[in-house]
Amino acid sequence: RYPVICIDGPSGAGKGTVTWRLAQALNYQLLDSGALYRIVGLKAFEAGLITADTNQTIDETAVLALTQSLEIAFVPNNESGRVDILVNGEAVGEQVRNETVGGYASQIAVFPTVRQALLKLQQDMATRSGLVADGRDMGTVVFPDADVKVYLTASAEARAERRVTQLLNAGQTADFEAILTTIKARDERDENRTTAPSKPAEDALLLDSSTLDANTVYEQVKKHCQD
Ligand code: C5P
Repeated sequence: RYPVICIDGPSGAGKGTVTWRLAQALNYQLLDSGALYRIVGLKAFEAGLITADTNQTIDETAVLALTQSLEIAFVPNNESGRVDILVNGEAVGEQVRNETVGGYASQIAVFPTVRQALLKLQQDMATRSGLVADGRDMGTVVFPDADVKVYLTASAEARAERRVTQLLNAGQTADFEAILTTIKARDERDENRTTAPSKPAEDALLLDSSTLDANTVYEQVKKHCQD
């Protein structure tokens, strides 16, 4: 198999930027594993299997059947240099990239059978070229023998602050307290689930980006890859 670099950690810690820059610099493919869970979350919502109520009981068997019915493919897009995700032949756009869908994703991500159904698709990506994989369990479950593992964190406050800045820059409104509550709820679910909880692999470099800018984080991760 080809070299694999795992960048795990909670959302908003800066994984996306590091992953993207590393993939560009090394000419590796990029695995955005969160997108897979977001796709299943969104489809489960559209199918009426989950609602906005976070205390609901979700039917794991039904979500698994739905997951198995989806044909998900990663297709390198030479024009954008990115990897497009196709679901049943259709490109998934920005509609999975909001916090509501992030919440759906973390609700279905607790199911072991659903995670298992998405495993091979992720592992197969390392059979084609070098890979930079972004997620929660890349270093612990999906690529336990990866060449490089990083767990990138930041305080919930720092991550909420970044999200506020992002939204304001996009001309939208942002409520710091509401965002902080949502971030903490998702962390809590991702870190405390029984299967593949979000946590650093034993051999991962731990990096706290709370007081670091994106460039410094990238330089530190790059240096760790070279060591
Ligand atoms: O990273 P992202 O915010 O896109 O992930 C959305 C959700 O998908 C996470 O909150 C988590 O519940 C789930 N996820 C996961 N394992 C991964 C990637 C994402 O459980 N490897």
